Amino acid sequence: IDQLNEQLTKPKPSKMSAEIQASDSAFSLQLIDENKNFNDKLLTYINRFTDQTDSSGLNYHIVSVFGSQSTGKSTLLNGLFGTKFDVMDEKKRQQTTKGIWFSHANYIASESLPEKRQDNSKHIFVLDVEGVDGREKADDKDFERKSALFALASTEVLIINIWEHQVGLYQGANMELLKTVMEVNLSLFHSSKQKCLLLFVIRDFTGVTPLSNLADSLRSDLNHIWQEMTKPEGCENEEIQSYFDLDFFSIAHKHFQSEEFAKNIRQLGDRFSSEDSLFRPKYHRGIPIDAWAVYSRQIWEQIELNKDLDLPTQQILVARFRCDEISAEVYKEFYDAFNQINFKNIKSDEDIAEKMKSVRSDALSAYDEQASRYQNSVFEERKKKLEDKIDAKLFEVQSERLDAVSKALIADFEQNALKLKRKSSKDGDVHFGEILDSSNSKCVEAFTRVISIYKMSNGVTFSKQLEDFKVTLHKSGLELKMKERERLVSKITKKFQLRFKEKVIIILSNPSTDSWDKILAYFHELEDKLVKKYIVKGEESDSKFDFLLGLDENTNKDTGAQIEKALWLKFKDIIHDFITEETVSRILRNKFEDAFKYDSDGTPTLWRSVAQVDSRFTKARTDAVSLLPVLSTAILEEGQEIIPDVDISHKDDQDDEYDEDYDGDIPLHFFGHLLSARQQSNISRRLRRETDAIYVDAKRSVIAGQTH
Ligand code: GDP
Ligand code: MG
Repeated sequence: IDQLNEQLTKPKPSKMSAEIQASDSAFSLQLIDENKNFNDKLLTYINRFTDQTDSSGLNYHIVSVFGSQSTGKSTLLNGLFGTKFDVMDEKKRQQTTKGIWFSHANYIASESLPEKRQDNSKHIFVLDVEGVDGREKADDKDFERKSALFALASTEVLIINIWEHQVGLYQGANMELLKTVMEVNLSLFHSSKQKCLLLFVIRDFTGVTPLSNLADSLRSDLNHIWQEMTKPEGCENEEIQSYFDLDFFSIAHKHFQSEEFAKNIRQLGDRFSSEDSLFRPKYHRGIPIDAWAVYSRQIWEQIELNKDLDLPTQQILVARFRCDEISAEVYKEFYDAFNQINFKNIKSDEDIAEKMKSVRSDALSAYDEQASRYQNSVFEERKKKLEDKIDAKLFEVQSERLDAVSKALIADFEQNALKLKRKSSKDGDVHFGEILDSSNSKCVEAFTRVISIYKMSNGVTFSKQLEDFKVTLHKSGLELKMKERERLVSKITKKFQLRFKEKVIIILSNPSTDSWDKILAYFHELEDKLVKKYIVKGEESDSKFDFLLGLDENTNKDTGAQIEKALWLKFKDIIHDFITEETVSRILRNKFEDAFKYDSDGTPTLWRSVAQVDSRFTKARTDAVSLLPVLSTAILEEGQEIIPDVDISHKDDQDDEYDEDYDGDIPLHFFGHLLSARQQSNISRRLRRETDAIYVDAKRSVIAGQTH
C-alpha cells in the first residue's frame, strides 16, 4: 500500500499530447491513449462539471460501451448523450485507433419530453472504449482486457453493443468479448459482490425475431460462458446473476429505418432518466466525484503494472489521498484565518478563546463536510491529525496567554498576600502561612479557570502549564516568607542598634571596671525585649515566627538564631567601631582631667601646693591608666571575657578580616579584643605626654602664684 501511495502522490508525468478536444467536441477527453498513457487533465475536466449542490459527491454516473469495432458505438453514445465522440467516416472507412474516451453527457435524449432531450442533471459521464474487437491477437487481447478492467472498476451500466445478426452465433468475436468482460468482472468483484448492469443494445434490429427471443438466446449464451469459466475458489457455484443484472434493448437500422433508429435512441434515453432508471444505487462504486480522477488514475496504473486490482485497497488509497488533500486545504484556510486575528487587540481570554473556537470548528466542520464521504477509519485518522495540527497552532497563542496570566497572577499573589498580612497584623490574628495558603489556592483556582477557557480539545490539557504555575507559585510564596523574615530580622536589628549604640557610648565614655557588666546586662535586656517575644512556647507552635512568617519549625529555629547572631554581630561592630586609639585617648584624658583639675564636688581645683599637685597627678594618672584594660578588652568585673552565646565567626570575608586585624599574638577578630598591644602602648604613650604637659602647666601656675 505504501508503494502504491507513493505512486499516487507522485503522478507520473504523462507523455500524452492529446488535449481536451477543442471547440466542437469541447466535452470529450482522451482519458487513455493508444500508448496506454493516462491523461493528466482529467481532474480539470471533471471540475468543469462539478455539481455545487451535491455535498455527497455521489451524484454522478458512469456508463461505458463495449463492443466490436465499427458497430456504431460512438454513433449511439452521441445520439443518446449528446456527446461528440469520433465516428468513423462512412466513405473513408479508416481503421479506428485504440483508447478510452471520456465525456460528460451534454444531455440525455428523450422521446417523452417535447424538447426531445433531458438535462444531464444526473451528471452522466460516458466512457467510449475504442479499438476492441474480440480477436485473438495478443496485443489486442491485452488492451481489451485492460479496458474491460478499467471500465468495470467504475461503470454502473455497461452497454454491450451487438448486431442482431450476430446474436446466437456462439462462436465469434462477440463471445470472446463477453468472456473477457465476465472473467474480469469476476476477478474484480468476487470478494465484494459488486454488481453492474449489462445492457445489451441490439443494433440493426429488424423485428423479425422478437427482442425477448433474442434476449433468451443471449442469456443462454452467457450462462454457457459462465458455466465454462474457471472461477475463483469459493465462487464455483455462483450464478451469473450475483454479478450482473441483464437488460436488453433494440435499435432499428440507422440507414434503412432512420426515423425509427432515432426514436429508439430517444426511448433508450428515457430509460436512463426515468423514475425507474437503469441506474440502481447498488451499481454505484461510491467514489465521490472529486476523487474520481485519483481513483481512475490509480486503477489504470495498477492495471498497467499488471497488478491484481484490489478495489477495497484502492478505495482506502483514494480515501487517504483525498483526506490528506482536503486536510491540507482546510489547514491552509484555518492558518490564514488564524493569522488574521489580531490577538494583541483582544483583551479578554473569553473573547480570544471564542475566536479560536470558531476558527477551529470552522476548519473541522469544513473537513467533516468534504472528507466524511471517504472511508471512515481513514477519515477519522486524518481528522485526528488535522486536529492535532490545528491545536498545535492554537497552542502557540494559548501558551503565550497562559504565560502572561501566570505572571500577572503571581504578581497579584505577592501583593495581595502582603496587603492581607499588613491588614491582619493590625488585628494580629491571622497566620501568614494561612494567608499564603489561601492566596495560593485562589490563584490556582483562577489559573485553572483560565485554562478551562482555553481548553477546546481533549488532546490539549495544559497540565504542564498548571504544574509549572503551581511550582512558581510555591517558590514565590517561599520567597515572600524569606523576604518577610529578612525584613523582620533587619527591623529588630535596627531597633537594637539604635538603642544599644547610645548606651554603649554613654557607658564607655565614662568607663569603670564594671562597664562591661552594665553593657552585657543591657544587651540581654534588649535581647529579651526585642527577640524573646517572638520565641513563645505555645500549644500549636513554639514560635511566633511560625505565626508571622509561616515558616516550618526548623526555619523558625533558624530565624531565632539568625536574629541572635545579627545582634551579637551588631554588638561587636558597635564596640569595635567606637573603640579607636583616638576615642580611647580622649576618654582617658578626660578621665584624667576630671580627676586632676576638678574637686570631688565638680569645682575647678585651686592649687595650694606643689605637693598637692604631685599627689593629685599621680592618683589621677594611675586611675586613668588603670582604665585602659577596660577599653581594650570586653571583660567583666569578675574577669571573664564576653563571649557571644552564638557562633558569629561565619562571616563571609572572615579570612581576610583575620589577616588584616591580626596584631601580634592577639587575633583581633575575637569578639572582645578591641585594641591591640601596639594600640594600647600608643595610647599610654600619648596619655603620658598629654598628662605630663597638663601637670607641668599646673605646677608652673602654683610656683608662679607663690612668687607673687
Ligand atoms: P464504433 O467504432 O463502434 O464507434 O462505430 P461508429 O459509431 O464510428 O460507426 C461506425 C460506422 O457505422 C459509421 O460509418 C456509422 O455511420 C455506421 N453506423 C452507425 N450506427 C449504425 C447502425 O445502427 N447501423 C449501421 N448499419 N451502421 C451504423
Ligand atoms: Mg467509436
